[in-house]
Amino acid sequence: MTINNHDRSQFFIDLEDRFGAHNYHPLDVVVESAKGIWVTDVNGNRYMDCLSAYSAVNQGHAHPAIAQAMMEQIGKVTLTSRAFRNDQLGPFYQELCELTGFERALPMNSGAEAVETALKAVRKWGYKVKGVPEGQAEIIVCKNNFAGRTITIVGFSTEAQYQDGFGPFTPGFKVIPFGDADALEAAITPNTVAFLLEPIQGEGGIIVPPDGFLKRAREICTANNVLLVTDEIQTGLGRTGKLFAFEHEGIRPDMVTIGKALSGGYYPVSAVLASDEILGVFHPGDHGSTFGGNPLACAVARAALRVIVDEKLIDNADEVGAYFRERLEEINSPHIKEVRGKGLLIGVELHESSGGARRFCEALQHEGILCKETHHTIIRFAPPLVIQKADVDWAIERIHKVMTMA
Ligand SMILES: *Cc1c(COP(=O)(O)O)cnc(C)c1O
Repeated sequence: MTINNHDRSQFFIDLEDRFGAHNYHPLDVVVESAKGIWVTDVNGNRYMDCLSAYSAVNQGHAHPAIAQAMMEQIGKVTLTSRAFRNDQLGPFYQELCELTGFERALPMNSGAEAVETALKAVRKWGYKVKGVPEGQAEIIVCKNNFAGRTITIVGFSTEAQYQDGFGPFTPGFKVIPFGDADALEAAITPNTVAFLLEPIQGEGGIIVPPDGFLKRAREICTANNVLLVTDEIQTGLGRTGKLFAFEHEGIRPDMVTIGKALSGGYYPVSAVLASDEILGVFHPGDHGSTFGGNPLACAVARAALRVIVDEKLIDNADEVGAYFRERLEEINSPHIKEVRGKGLLIGVELHESSGGARRFCEALQHEGILCKETHHTIIRFAPPLVIQKADVDWAIERIHKVMTMA
């Protein structure tokens, strides 16, 4: 199949170029509709979606059960603000806490807001519960992290481009190498309130830490009365073949951030999950969001969570993910350096000599597969969790062709 992409799409590309800020460099595919793992562009070409909007559509595009919940709620009430209560928020809290095993939740909209909420919570916990002197709280993060795009969050990024031109930044962060438990131990001081990390670094290139790292991090945090916060906005809700990626090492963090697939791609919904002791530091007026916890968001998220459970998407991610990685490893390509990941969060790292991942993503687009390079040399394969083995076979044929080109 060769994709014809240069008639109707150019019109929309030109409009974006002419009127939009140029803060993205997307593939030139103009999507008009989508269903399950498939998207269709304005020229009628069909592609397998191997990005899932950075894991926001784990349930597959246009899932009918989520659509129905959304439409029903739209007909009732969409926004009350938290000045009043609504009949979706309480059930959402309960279902989310029962599913995840955390005591309390705090709803926001974007992932970055959930991370900001977590940062505020751990700082306040540090001052009010741990007894850190006012203004002295320290948070440890990892090199190569990604947690969103606010000024505070990019302030502790180690990616030069994310920071360039945006300072001054929020103080109080220390960076250690990802996966280095000794460095974590050495970085902790009496003023350390939290260690924030992604259990697998997503935007950083699908980096899986050494076995045992999360376990040791848990022990070190516990021994030092430091909160362990895992950012599961990309890795959570089934993506890695577990509900949360921290389960791969049998640990429990003190706090988790979730977003993306929490709405199945219908609406921005995020949340922070933690204990009563930690989220209990927030009192009325301390923190909030006009749209956070609105009834439409809650109804959508409730349906999105039900789909993950009812359709056993976590087991499917585990099984089909293992199969996908196995089939990728079979490809004998001079360009592939390593295949890695867990569940359906898969990274294919290319050799420097390959000429970069972008040209392979463009070639895959012409074969009917949409994926996106992360950093210069890594291709991420992260299809919706509803993908079946036969779909993987279809994809592998095309990936094989592209990976063995010159
Ligand atoms: C995407 C992502 C975020 C930010 O989410 P937004 O909704 O884009 O603000 C935060 N953390 C991780 C790990 C992510 O992958």
